[in-house]
Amino acid sequence: MSRSPSLPDRPTLDLDPELTPSERLAALQSHLTDIVDVNQQLQEQLDRIEHRREGLREEVDRLQRENETLKTASLYLATVEDSFEDGDAIIKQHGNNQEVLTEVAPDLHETIEIGDRVAINDSFAIQELLDTETDARAQAMEVDASPDVVYDDIGGLEDELREVQEAVEDPLENPEKFEAVGVEPPSGVLLHGPPGTGKTMLAKAVANHTDATFIKMAGSELVRKFIGEGSRLVRDLFDLAARREPAIIFIDEIDSVASKRTDSKTSGDAEVQRTMMQLLSEMDGFDERGEVRIMAATNRFDMLDRAILRPGRFDRLIEVPEPTTEARAEILRIHSADMEVADAIDFEALAATTESFNGAQLASLTTEAGMFAIRDDRSTVTMDDFRQARDKLADDAETGTPAYTTYIQ
Ligand code: ATP
Repeated sequence: MSRSPSLPDRPTLDLDPELTPSERLAALQSHLTDIVDVNQQLQEQLDRIEHRREGLREEVDRLQRENETLKTASLYLATVEDSFEDGDAIIKQHGNNQEVLTEVAPDLHETIEIGDRVAINDSFAIQELLDTETDARAQAMEVDASPDVVYDDIGGLEDELREVQEAVEDPLENPEKFEAVGVEPPSGVLLHGPPGTGKTMLAKAVANHTDATFIKMAGSELVRKFIGEGSRLVRDLFDLAARREPAIIFIDEIDSVASKRTDSKTSGDAEVQRTMMQLLSEMDGFDERGEVRIMAATNRFDMLDRAILRPGRFDRLIEVPEPTTEARAEILRIHSADMEVADAIDFEALAATTESFNGAQLASLTTEAGMFAIRDDRSTVTMDDFRQARDKLADDAETGTPAYTTYIQ
């Protein structure tokens, strides 16, 4: 904190009674000049202090607003399932699909209709009716101010993680390093590889580590749900990131909007084309976007239109492979870390017998092992639970039961 500036000395005047009138006049005039000078200095100090006070007042206002925002609880999204004459309505919360009977405020009750999307608070009271724009945005984008994945949660991807750090974390945290050497950091980073191997985790972890807002958009949703709105949503995505910088944009399943061009002329294809063109133009105008980094992921690298891989677009490709045996042991260890497990769990042996499992399946394996212990009324998970869980998931895989199909998506 800066200290208060010291005040100028106050001018004093001791008039010698012996002075002649003209000497007296000269002394008084010089004293007046001193006073005017000090007055001038004081005025300047006052101006500076007022300016500073103004700055501090703005800072206080800003902090107060921030405080208010932090204190305001977030709202959840829900859909109106039914609405009754007596003022009640049944709503279904998105995400957990919980259905709740809630009383609706009279003014809202007249406006809501079945199928409307609404914002609800912790007590399931409807706070507002979402307009189509907010609704589309809310559904199309997942915004997470601080994702909770850390680097240590990711097993077996050390090289890939280092590459992501170089391409995303360093430009965000040490842009001067790139300036000093005179190289441009990669514009976009494309993670490609089989499903469930940790691509989304890598993006979330780097956002967490750099204190960046994580903004995810799923390419498949864009083309399936938001027909006609794709290019606007892509524009919104980049605008939102610019307002929330530092931010990491993560476009999952980018192949849905950026597949190789086909000759087919259906309107759906034209729409996908428009969405992709918007994406390319946003990326091309990306230089001035400050602290925003773009990442994308795909399981179908072979399908991608090469136009998106040109320099200045997704110019850093990182392959995220299926986990090796060591990686599988590490992933199993990570996912069991918070579980009460018996001492003798041989993660290496489990890893050696789960060759076809990806990271997501290994995560499910540990949960399933915990379920076996619970079913048996035990609070410690044993090696046998892990083996049974492995066999169950492997069987599910063979028969293609839904449990497995969700892992492979
Ligand atoms: P998709 O291509 O299907 O979107 P993805 O590669 O993005 O998949 P993630 O969403 O990152 O995969 O992983 C899904 C889940 O699988 C994670 O939440 C985590 O529980 C587990 N998982 C996957 N890979 C790893 C890994 N390398 N280390 C630890 N857990 C992992």
